[in-house]
Amino acid sequence: MNFRWDPALILGIDLGGTKILAGVVDREGRILSRAKRSTPAAQGGPAIVAAIMECVREAVQTAGASLDQIAAAGLGSPGPLDADAGVILWSANLNVRDFPIGPELSQILGCPVVLDNDVRVGGYAEYRLGAGQEYKNLIIAFVGTGIGGCVIVDGAMVAGSTRNAGELGHTVIKTGGPRCGCGARGCVESLASKTAITRRIEKAVRKGLPTMLGERISRKGRLKSRDLAEAVMANDLVALNEVQRSAHFLGIGLGNLINVLGPEAIVIGGGIAQALGDTYVDMVRASARTIAITDPGDTIVIRRAALGDDAGFLGAALFARERFRPSETRYEVHSTTP
Ligand SMILES: [Zn+2]
Repeated sequence: MNFRWDPALILGIDLGGTKILAGVVDREGRILSRAKRSTPAAQGGPAIVAAIMECVREAVQTAGASLDQIAAAGLGSPGPLDADAGVILWSANLNVRDFPIGPELSQILGCPVVLDNDVRVGGYAEYRLGAGQEYKNLIIAFVGTGIGGCVIVDGAMVAGSTRNAGELGHTVIKTGGPRCGCGARGCVESLASKTAITRRIEKAVRKGLPTMLGERISRKGRLKSRDLAEAVMANDLVALNEVQRSAHFLGIGLGNLINVLGPEAIVIGGGIAQALGDTYVDMVRASARTIAITDPGDTIVIRRAALGDDAGFLGAALFARERFRPSETRYEVHSTTP
């Protein structure tokens, strides 16, 4: 496929289970526009592609551009994926199986499309343009409904021999602990994610402990990070207790990684960290440092992510830029990048 490098606009798309975000990014990584749509997750592949294209058209129009000015596109998606083939193998949150979303979008857009894991592209954006940009050795953790992450060593994203490395949410830190979505027990995700926090708050409500969150969870059908943050601000003891518990377990998981990998910095993002801010990150840092015996001087920086919801589409755009940039590839995205 011919590569149109002038005027070099890149499209980034973040496909999530509830929403699609798209943005147009220029060759310096500046965001020119953003657009958002709900994901028709239950309706399958063709409906998802149609929603993505609606979102993309709005983003391109808002940027004052046209589709034929887009040089390449990146798509971050939950998986598992066959990234090389541009195929979503299946997803718990999207009703698709063996769906060749990369080739389909490439055909509609008329430009090359790179597909990669949503967490990995978000982490890459934080590394290149966000809270991790001063560092070459970095761990990035996203705490939301689940817990995802990625590891950057000497400036390159670690994918490992399996291409799946970096799943720090599924390191086991409490044997015999709560059952995790992955099937194991006691993973960081099963103890520190928003899902875990929700389960514990519901248990507290059943026990009759006073909290403003019981009514909000039953009214909205789920725990919203913003409601959790409000409850913490209002000194709701149940909320405070569960947030501390989440931070404690995430910190234990990250402390283990500090001892193994010795990064320069850890960046913490995702809905929970975004809503609770430094209150949460301070608790995670304190917990991590109780077991990070390899960092006696507390030199490893542990900080909040900087890019918020932009990280996914921005990282996808950066992946596309660096994968398809002609003759001037400066950064290795992962081991298979040409
Ligand atoms: Zn797990």
